Amino acid sequence: MGKENKPLCKWDKDDIKDRIKELKKIVSEPRFVCRKCARVAKKEENLCKPEEL
Ligand SMILES: [Zn+2]
Repeated sequence: MGKENKPLCKWDKDDIKDRIKELKKIVSEPRFVCRKCARVAKKEENLCKPEEL
């Protein structure tokens, strides 16, 4: 799995720092929540255990 398509759940602090613009896109208008990590995302592929909001 490359860096480009790893789920938000797997991002570390360096990913967040380097990809803050992308992160903002992913979490704006959230439609799914991860029931393991409590993160939110617009697309379910960005989360490891997505559940619809
Ligand atoms: Zn997760």
